[in-house]
Amino acid sequence: MRVIVQKYGGTSVGTPERIRAVAERVRRTRDRGRQVAVVVSAMGQTTDDLLRLAHQVSDQPPQRELDMLLSTGEQVSIALLAMALEALGVPAISLTGLQSGIITDDHHSGARIRSIKKERVERHLRDGRVAIVAGFQGVSNGYEITTLGRGGSDTTAAALAAALGAEACEIFTDVPGVFTADPRIVPRATKLDCISYEEMLELAGAGAQVLHPRSVEVAKNYRVPLWVLSGFEERSGTLVWEAKKLEKVVVTGATLNKGIAKVAICGVPDRPGVAARVFGALAREGINVRLIIQSVGQEKVTDISLVIGRSFLKQAVKILEGLRAGLKAREIQSDGSVAEVSIVGSGVAGTAGVASRMFRALARRRINIQLISSSEIRIACIVDAASGERALRAVHDEFQLYRLRRRLVAARPEARA
Ligand code: ASP
Ligand code: MG
Repeated sequence: MRVIVQKYGGTSVGTPERIRAVAERVRRTRDRGRQVAVVVSAMGQTTDDLLRLAHQVSDQPPQRELDMLLSTGEQVSIALLAMALEALGVPAISLTGLQSGIITDDHHSGARIRSIKKERVERHLRDGRVAIVAGFQGVSNGYEITTLGRGGSDTTAAALAAALGAEACEIFTDVPGVFTADPRIVPRATKLDCISYEEMLELAGAGAQVLHPRSVEVAKNYRVPLWVLSGFEERSGTLVWEAKKLEKVVVTGATLNKGIAKVAICGVPDRPGVAARVFGALAREGINVRLIIQSVGQEKVTDISLVIGRSFLKQAVKILEGLRAGLKAREIQSDGSVAEVSIVGSGVAGTAGVASRMFRALARRRINIQLISSSEIRIACIVDAASGERALRAVHDEFQLYRLRRRLVAARPEARA
């Protein structure tokens, strides 16, 4: 059985006409001799509307009831798509997360898929039906409805593709693919034909919102070729795949993350246990620290700087102020107007001079770098928020990403013709 998993996002199923267009596309894929499992999101802004509704009846809706409510959005679209396919004469059946055997942990509104009991979906495919699976939802061992976090339908699709041993997972969205940078900020940005899982994870982590990051992790672990395709135009999209199947390039993309803040614990005694206490306290409150820099201590005191999501700034400052006296730190400084500009690419660490080129490009535009971090495939600079967009264009130009061409060194996996 040759299976393709296709996922259609909220915009792609936003109106009855679009649902009919999706049905047409599913039919075309089927005509190419494939069994198709389709994952859909809720129509248009449905999930936001449902959330708003919840907050009109309660300031703090219970997580369990939120999942109960939000999961209805996807149930509407699976039923409508099944009807549209049947109207075209294509046998189809809609299935909720429970009916599709999507078993998650019991972490409401941010559940992780533990396993997929794929037998039912497989049986429908074998019988020649299109299986239409509700995205974003699953069921816990205790039969509670869970959701996977905003944008989680991508992850449903990748996990389903892995479970079914699909040839490919095609994610139809409202952009033509993955770009070298956000085209709204960098008009010269160009669409990538292919990118590795690792690079895509870094781009997603750095704020490129094309794919749910967890979907890339799942695809990577099970080596599912993941296509990002436009639901609206017939262009070739971007293939996310194993690095060894792609031509090597040094830098693949650049990102700007505006949603961050910087906090510093200044003048803290340089002794064992300080960092452990600070990060322990932040972790207990669920505050994820993106970057940590401890400077070289002088006269037995040091500064510890952290970068966190901006929405956590107030909470983090409060926690650190609470620890300050106990740690004998001089002061807590915070700055909510910073941004992070990064370059990502498999050759970043292995190629001499990449970092210096990035810093020079920023220096030439008189953009001050406040903090720097680097990993195997990423270099990130924290700059002031007002310079963020200029910084992004500067590095994109420096590495001439608008000219980036990269070829596959393996045969193309299945994708929409
Ligand atoms: N409907 C959900 C959301 O809007 C899940 C998804 O679209 O992937 O977040
Ligand atoms: Mg959505």
